Amino acid sequence: MRMVDIISKKRDGLPLTKNEIAFFVDGYTKGEIPDYQASALLMAIYFEDMTEDERQALTMAMVNSGETIDLSAISGIKVDKHSTGGVGDTTTLVLAPLVAAVGVPVAKMSGRGLGHTGGTIDKLESVKGFHVELSKEEFTELVNRDKVAVMGQSGNLTPADKKLYALRDVTGTVNSIPLIASSIMSKKIAAGADAICLDVKTGAGAFMKTEEDAESLAHAMVRIGNGVGRNTMAVISDMSQPLGYAIGNALEVKEAIATLKGEGPEDLTELVLVLGSQMVVLAKKADSLEVARKMLEAVIQSGEALEKFKEFLRNQGGDDSVVDNPDKLPDAAFKQELPAKRSGFVSEIVADEMGVAAMMLGAGRATKEDEIDLSVGIVLRKKVGDAVQEGESLATVYSSQADISAVQAKIYEHITIADRAEKPKLIHKIITE
Ligand code: URA
Ligand code: CA
Repeated sequence: MRMVDIISKKRDGLPLTKNEIAFFVDGYTKGEIPDYQASALLMAIYFEDMTEDERQALTMAMVNSGETIDLSAISGIKVDKHSTGGVGDTTTLVLAPLVAAVGVPVAKMSGRGLGHTGGTIDKLESVKGFHVELSKEEFTELVNRDKVAVMGQSGNLTPADKKLYALRDVTGTVNSIPLIASSIMSKKIAAGADAICLDVKTGAGAFMKTEEDAESLAHAMVRIGNGVGRNTMAVISDMSQPLGYAIGNALEVKEAIATLKGEGPEDLTELVLVLGSQMVVLAKKADSLEVARKMLEAVIQSGEALEKFKEFLRNQGGDDSVVDNPDKLPDAAFKQELPAKRSGFVSEIVADEMGVAAMMLGAGRATKEDEIDLSVGIVLRKKVGDAVQEGESLATVYSSQADISAVQAKIYEHITIADRAEKPKLIHKIITE
């Protein structure tokens, strides 16, 4: 097989065989195929797209390029959740204990990563003593016994994706549905998920800015998952404004605790119930989304979801008293309100810009070496559609420095107050095929 023939075939719009795709992925991962040929093929895929069979073959070739995690020692159907980007997305922190409380095994491998705020592990580390250094045996035992554990990502998962993603980044080929879909799905499958629940965000803070693109991506991923034997569903949810009120690490943990108590923000609560219902159905703990939702609402009301969160923190060395005393979480040195400059209705809170503001405060990492300040961030006081009076606070900024003028300017620039505004629709669509 020759790489030049594979490139020419795709250039002419013909579908590649499974063997051709495996030849490319394998050869590129091993360094036998040069960047220029891989780039040419990626660009041809960008223009000519891929059939469903090709997408599945690409996904599985990337899965097989490295280690895969075997969760078979954990009983039940392991459902993983994945969100495509987002700002202040506290869903994982709430979902893990919530679905575990109704018996869905949550065996979560999580990374730190870069972004506006830390990853799930960073956020959880704002709880004193909490750690993710578990052996494979401890991890398995915890999930089998208590249904939830989080472990730091180990091993060399999907090296082909790492290499291809870096190449796409510099060749103008990131924004391709078959490439994005196979990239995301390969990572979930390699991490051992039996079933996958996707939260595809749409809007300013999302990877997919339009609803149409988000829908195409969701369909693509659901078809790949189902095509390779992993039951997959997707929700398309709004990310034009940040989810919930809090953007920051400890601040999001506080918001997660409130949500598990049934006192969380309306949008975060609704999204968690919608995604959680899917996870419960995928894990075959309920026959319908309606029944699943009732089960989740019941464990929030009874306090079992909150108890599960405490147990989960305790199991991994965390001080579970923070759940009843959230003031024990890292606290920022300065808290400053941002008063509204006029009365009206909040018509826009640009999600990604709020993320950048949180990052400027030190809530996230720009490079892997950066340290995160767990205490800082932003808590919105208003959401899109809310009425506001001049002088009323739009947001509270939690900082480690007194001078927050640059952050303040950024936030003011991207929160718009108009004469009228509508609340954006949160759940755009649910996609099962
Ligand atoms: N996120 C991924 O993991 N892969 C992509 O290709 C795009 C976003
Ligand atoms: Ca939030």
